[in-house]
Amino acid sequence: MADDADEAWGLGGELTESGTVRHSGMLRKKKAGKGWKQRWCELVERGGGQPPRLVYRAKQGAQAKGILSLVGAWMADTSGTLDGSNMGFSLVPGNTSKDKGRLHQLVDFYFECADIAEKKAWQAAILGMHCVNASLDTDAYCSFEFDTLALAPDEWLPALVAMANTLGLPQKLGVGEEVVSAYFAACLGQMPPNAFHSAAHALDVTQLLYCTLRQTGLAPLLQPVQLLGVFLGAVAHDLQHTGTSNSLLISEGHEYASKCADNIGPLESHHARCALETLANHDVLAAMSSADAQSVREVVEKVIHCTDIGNHQVVMDTFKDVEDGWKNFRSSEFLVHGDKGDVLLAMLLKAADVSNPARTFEIAGKWNALIYEEFYAEGDKDKAAGREVNPMHDRDNNSVPKSSIGFINFLVRPIFSELLDFLKHCHDTDAPGIRLDVFQEAVNNLSTNAQLYQRQADTESSL
Ligand SMILES: [Zn+2]
Repeated sequence: MADDADEAWGLGGELTESGTVRHSGMLRKKKAGKGWKQRWCELVERGGGQPPRLVYRAKQGAQAKGILSLVGAWMADTSGTLDGSNMGFSLVPGNTSKDKGRLHQLVDFYFECADIAEKKAWQAAILGMHCVNASLDTDAYCSFEFDTLALAPDEWLPALVAMANTLGLPQKLGVGEEVVSAYFAACLGQMPPNAFHSAAHALDVTQLLYCTLRQTGLAPLLQPVQLLGVFLGAVAHDLQHTGTSNSLLISEGHEYASKCADNIGPLESHHARCALETLANHDVLAAMSSADAQSVREVVEKVIHCTDIGNHQVVMDTFKDVEDGWKNFRSSEFLVHGDKGDVLLAMLLKAADVSNPARTFEIAGKWNALIYEEFYAEGDKDKAAGREVNPMHDRDNNSVPKSSIGFINFLVRPIFSELLDFLKHCHDTDAPGIRLDVFQEAVNNLSTNAQLYQRQADTESSL
């Protein structure tokens, strides 16, 4: 039995001799004033009409002892068997509806899951039901090969709503789907028809964020307010974008800059203001407790400010600074720890915001054409006003392949590599169900695309 538990522990959702991991994630408990307590658990399906087995892992003897006495009390009233060691336990209920019911109750009563959707997912899995709405085909959104620019505009809003539904956002907010949909529609409506910073970009960034949250297995590990904040923030992260840089707004004395006393991130300050206003105008957070609503607003504001490229090094340094911290923490504690968790959310949104070159070369090329259209328009304005022109904005002298390599090497790759490193740590410590492949794919795409741009640059030079 102990071997079975070890076997199941390392599976991460793959088929095994003894069964399939049907559901995995953190079971959480929050004690008043004592913070979160959470452990990784897996529900292993055994086939043959057998009820699933709940596998729980504790690292410390004392933790295991606590949970064993808990389950021991529970086992006294069921026909199943229990095997435990100081490394955890594997619980195999008997094949009766009563036993299934008791397992259901164990989750229901002893583990106060952080959010209702997650708890329901566990309960549904235990009872052998499907917990994802089968009518929604969201798999297409879970890929780096997803091509937002191939969608028609009338597909943008349904795409956002489908992703939000899959993540259980309406339930987490305590509102109907129509409230979330109205918020998304208002956000898309506030995206001007810029070449790059358009509604398509808002959707593209949100899709990439959704893809990484789901494919890595991070989504169910986050607190509901974190998941809500980063997703609602992603859709709104560029509201009312001018299609120009912060430095142009400051040079021209634009009203966004004049509203921004210290001139730090006038665009992002404006996007964040608009996001909070839009949330309020649509009563998106109205059903939450005031403390939770405030937490969501803070995450929204923070992650949007962190998309300012001017803040890039600060965000990277902060993430690296806490690196020592999170290497001492168990990864799950890092995730639910307010400030540190928020830096992770900021990194995930930053990654999504600059993810174009991490997609296929073809998709990256489409977005590149759009961003340089915006950059060159800004360069033209600077030239006309007699201001210094950013070399990347100069249509007469810029080399797109060379600029693209610089963008990948100095900005995009460090973000994705740092996140990959973090996920590896999670995977190797207490969250073995964390999957690395999506970030590994991104890092591989970045290398491939950099090589292809290099070839183009070489061809340019030889002309
Ligand atoms: Zn953006």
